[in-house]
Amino acid sequence: MSKNIELYEESKRYAPGGVHTSIRNVNPMKVFTKGEGAYIYDAEGKKYIDYQAAFGPIILGHSHPYVNRKVIEAIERTDLYGVGCTDLEVELSRKICQHVPSAEQVLFCNSGSEATYHAIRLTRAITGRAKLIKFQGCYHGWHDYVARNMLSAWDMIGKRDPGSAGMMDEAIDNTLICTYNDLDDVERTFKENPGQIASLIVEPIPHNIGCIMPQPGFLEGLRELCTKYGALLIFDEVITGFRHSIGGFQKVAGVTPDLTTMGKAMANGYPIAAVAGKREYMQRFNTYPGGDVWFAGTYNGHAVGTAASIATLELMENEPVHEHIFRLGEKMRSGIRTIHERLGIKAYVAGFGSVWTTYFMETEPKHYAELQQNDAELYVAYRRKLIDKGIFKMPMNIKRNHISYSHTDADIENTLDIIESVLKELI
Ligand code: PLP
Repeated sequence: MSKNIELYEESKRYAPGGVHTSIRNVNPMKVFTKGEGAYIYDAEGKKYIDYQAAFGPIILGHSHPYVNRKVIEAIERTDLYGVGCTDLEVELSRKICQHVPSAEQVLFCNSGSEATYHAIRLTRAITGRAKLIKFQGCYHGWHDYVARNMLSAWDMIGKRDPGSAGMMDEAIDNTLICTYNDLDDVERTFKENPGQIASLIVEPIPHNIGCIMPQPGFLEGLRELCTKYGALLIFDEVITGFRHSIGGFQKVAGVTPDLTTMGKAMANGYPIAAVAGKREYMQRFNTYPGGDVWFAGTYNGHAVGTAASIATLELMENEPVHEHIFRLGEKMRSGIRTIHERLGIKAYVAGFGSVWTTYFMETEPKHYAELQQNDAELYVAYRRKLIDKGIFKMPMNIKRNHISYSHTDADIENTLDIIESVLKELI
């Protein structure tokens, strides 16, 4: 039995399914023992160029030496106190408020799901309203407020589609589903629920369904509609934040939400997340004297996450991180398009900055329902062959792939050669 399978079989004895998050299974199963720069290594020592990037956090490269050194320096002198605040928290808050346009104040937690939960609850307290708008296909975490209409079956698009058993009916029914890139749908929903919608949450680029770009005016339109109907606009920048610019996609788009949630690339894979926004709103959290919205977490602001995030942002401030990953992103996308043309493959290569997605369909999708045209089966075969040849991609082609600061031109060229050879085998 291979070492991967042997360890996986043991993992299954102790953990249901052998993995600690849904959709981590891969066929054939891999157990990873090392990550370094652009590469990951399985238990048999096989090396892969990694574009899964742990679902997005790895923006500088695995086990990045600068980030690791800063974390080690920090934990040799400090950890967690549960009282007061730490020098690391002060430094990181300052940086985030300096860079992220909507961040007048910020609070730290440990995962993106916590951040979206806190943000949504805050909007309910501020507005005294219960309902939330989210978009079909977007993902904002595992909690009851948002875990509906994610990767819905095609016949469930826009319908009542809770993502899990055990959810509270009230939470499901207070989350209204709209179509991304469709401002009329959003306005109709506001009109049909007068004075009831507390907030609208959106991934400014819905990377949980790949890389569907906001059409010109869409984000601006959301901003206007939220203001018009007295609801708060939440940008969930858990993926886009820090990956598309140090100020998030809001900086690129020039649209400022009321609240922002961040995580993932914020600390290059170390666990930390944040909710940020206007001071008047943030001071409703009960970290502020008199605040009435509960905000707590034993591990919030731990030295590991805060030190890693400071180091990650320092590199973004001082080195051409975004220039590098954007250039390689473009090289990857244009390289794949050229291969498709050469081989006569009908596919749409989408992407922004360091992110790319190959949809096996001819036209640019504008929202989730249009992904029905995508040939998901072809992708399964494609990914499996890529993994066999040492390229790690995301589990679905309606998800995105990520380039890090550690990837090189040679990695992209190597990947393009392998993509071409795999596609030749498949057509
Ligand atoms: N928001 C977005 C946009 C995400 O992609 C994710 C996770 O993939 C989350 C929130 C939840 O973050 P976490 O998995 O850290 O709880």
